[in-house]
Amino acid sequence: MGIKRILIANRGEIALRIHRAAHEMGIETVAVHSTADAEAMHVRLADHAVCIGPPPATDSYLNVANIISAAEVAGCDAIHPGYGFLSENAAFADIVEAHDIKWIGPKPEHIRTMGDKVEAKRTAGKLGLPLVPGSDGAITNLNEARELSNQIGYPVLVKAASGGGGRGMKVVPTENDLESALSQCKNEAKSAFGDDTVYIEKYLGNPRHIEFQVFGDGRGKAIHLGERDCSLQRRHQKVLEEAPSPVITPEERDRMGGIVASAMADMGYRGAGTIEFLWEDGEFYFIEMNTRLQVEHPVTEMITGMDLVREQIRIADGKDLSVTQEEVRFEGHAIECRINAEDPFTFAPSPGEVTAYHPAGGMHVRVDSGLYAGYRIPPYYDSMIAKLIVYGKTRERCIMRLRRALDEMVVGGVKSSIPLHQALLQQDDVLSGNYTIKWLEDWLETRD
Ligand code: ADP
Repeated sequence: MGIKRILIANRGEIALRIHRAAHEMGIETVAVHSTADAEAMHVRLADHAVCIGPPPATDSYLNVANIISAAEVAGCDAIHPGYGFLSENAAFADIVEAHDIKWIGPKPEHIRTMGDKVEAKRTAGKLGLPLVPGSDGAITNLNEARELSNQIGYPVLVKAASGGGGRGMKVVPTENDLESALSQCKNEAKSAFGDDTVYIEKYLGNPRHIEFQVFGDGRGKAIHLGERDCSLQRRHQKVLEEAPSPVITPEERDRMGGIVASAMADMGYRGAGTIEFLWEDGEFYFIEMNTRLQVEHPVTEMITGMDLVREQIRIADGKDLSVTQEEVRFEGHAIECRINAEDPFTFAPSPGEVTAYHPAGGMHVRVDSGLYAGYRIPPYYDSMIAKLIVYGKTRERCIMRLRRALDEMVVGGVKSSIPLHQALLQQDDVLSGNYTIKWLEDWLETRD
């Protein structure tokens, strides 16, 4: 009994993150990798490694047959999908379980429900979560779209039911723009996600993005681990995240956390999940649920002292949640900077050889990264190369430490987002926590 060998179906920093948690639990790891990643750190550190295909992700990290074969050949009894790639692919989760391999993730049926945003909203509504006003289900024709948009008031947002990663959304300022936005969104959704189902919701003018971390045992018990504020975004992509949110009081955290935890308990949710809300004028509006570990999970780990990957593995192994809600303590403040291999201000990708690498260190400083000097960042995948996560007793002390850590960090040979983060941490609005999802793009525009 008990998981003994985990296949890590991912790459980069998250593959390393999973490897570390597994080894700390005495569990062996098997890395899978494309030919482009043969020299990657997670491949070097894992107990075993299997090459699963050529560089393009569709042929390797998304290649279900090759990953399942690797798991069988290497004798793995569990698979951790990380984030991205196959992590929210319900069919893959089904196949893993059909092979008698433990899926370190939610029940496939819940991945399926939450992966369809129309279904997700319907389910969230039934579970008592507050929703963004909008269509009750998919929009099938222009008249319906017109009527509804007039009712909720412009601007509205047309969203693809299968959208993700900030793609598949169109803002509609007035009724005149509705028809073309609708057909554009449908076309784009069809080609990007193979599904042209769209729905409409009110476009909130200036909200914050606040999400709650949840965990369920799959048998009706669930807890929340507080919120993360991910409002600093560019093109709907998160750039810097913090926990707790500067605008949420402990009472509000308990109240909203209680609502999401009981929703998860009612669902019988298993494993880690994130419930995303937009927050405006003190009100929460559900937008979607992610049925996986998030990039920004370490800020939650810093303020709760919990290892979220360890918790995922325990739950997949059939164990109970390691803590009760009453035992969860929130202490201090944590901020994560996503460091990408790109120009800090034009955002043009900058892959290539890392000639020098020095991660920041010192008290309460954590760097999750697979970088090393001499490593070649391949051009095929996501540009995130490191996450710098810093803890402080207060938000002010966290920011002071974060500035110090950014100044220490060296990534030579390629451009990185370090100068962007350094500049951000000089802005009054960031220092005071006074920002919304619009703030970063507005600021970038005024800088030019
Ligand atoms: P994805 O799955 O692509 O991440 P989300 O539904 O989570 O899509 O939305 C991503 C981002 O898009 C949000 O963080 C927010 O910045 C913006 N957004 C989504 N819905 C709305 C809305 N109704 N009004 C304003 N902004 C929105």
